[in-house]
Amino acid sequence: MPGYYWYFSRGERELNVGLGYMMYPDKVGSNIRDLNEQIRNRRYPQAEIIKSQGDQIPARLPLASCLNNGFMTAGDAAALANPINGEGHGPAIMSGIKAGKIATKAIEDGDVSEKNLWAYNKFIWSDWGVGFSWGVALVKFWKTQGFDSFNFLLKKGIFQSDDLMLMNQNPEAKISMIRRAVRGWYRPRLLWKLRQTIVLARKFQSHARNYPELENFDVWVEELKILESIEI
Ligand SMILES: Cc1cc2nc3c(=O)[nH]c(=O)nc-3n(C[C@H](O)[C@H](O)[C@H](O)COP(=O)(O)OP(=O)(O)OC[C@H]3O[C@@H](n4cnc5c(N)ncnc54)[C@H](O)[C@@H]3O)c2cc1C
Repeated sequence: MPGYYWYFSRGERELNVGLGYMMYPDKVGSNIRDLNEQIRNRRYPQAEIIKSQGDQIPARLPLASCLNNGFMTAGDAAALANPINGEGHGPAIMSGIKAGKIATKAIEDGDVSEKNLWAYNKFIWSDWGVGFSWGVALVKFWKTQGFDSFNFLLKKGIFQSDDLMLMNQNPEAKISMIRRAVRGWYRPRLLWKLRQTIVLARKFQSHARNYPELENFDVWVEELKILESIEI
């Protein structure tokens, strides 16, 4: 943990079986085939492998800039996968559509310069920059506090699965855990870390909302790096 696995039906006699997990330093080098086999054998030890594949998911904030003169990038190539659940199909489709529209207009204008494409960066950051802020902050929490600590918060109802849904569906909605936090009074340090996580997520959101004009981009990136370097 944190991770997940799945068994999807592909008709009468075929399955898509797989797993996803965070590539933390302690997992680098672990045998992915072994892990996959363990998952498969839980339910389908007799299964024959027809095809096997895997890939990485760029679960992080979007690229600071997703374009250059005459160039735009979308989907995974722009790092548009949700850090909480790895969901990247929706962002890939939506960013691709937006990139296409802005590129069409730029070509009609006869100006495909970085400056004329800049609205695309603003769109990306106002949507997924804001949306993924919760994920990057939570991943920082998981990395330093461990998933058991997060489970404790879930068990006590201090952090609820509905909060995760809300963070995905309406990232800027108010989420208050103050009243629920009383249930974990005997772990004040953990509660403090949770508070730091929420504050950091809000800072990322506000930075994403304040995506700059091209002229101020370098300063904005420096400020982003400072936020990214904060440990929980
Ligand atoms: C194991 C796994 C499970 C996932 N599960 C989910 C899920 O359940 N839900 C979800 O929303 N997301 C999921 N994702 C994430 C999702 O698959 C990606 O975020 C999404 O597919 C990104 O779409 P994309 O078009 O940006 O990139 P891709 O789907 O990677 O498409 C890029 C395409 O470009 C092609 N290509 C690469 N280089 C070149 C080249 N030089 N010339 C021509 N073509 C090239 C590639 O072959 C590929 O077909 C999962 C990812 C993985 C790895």
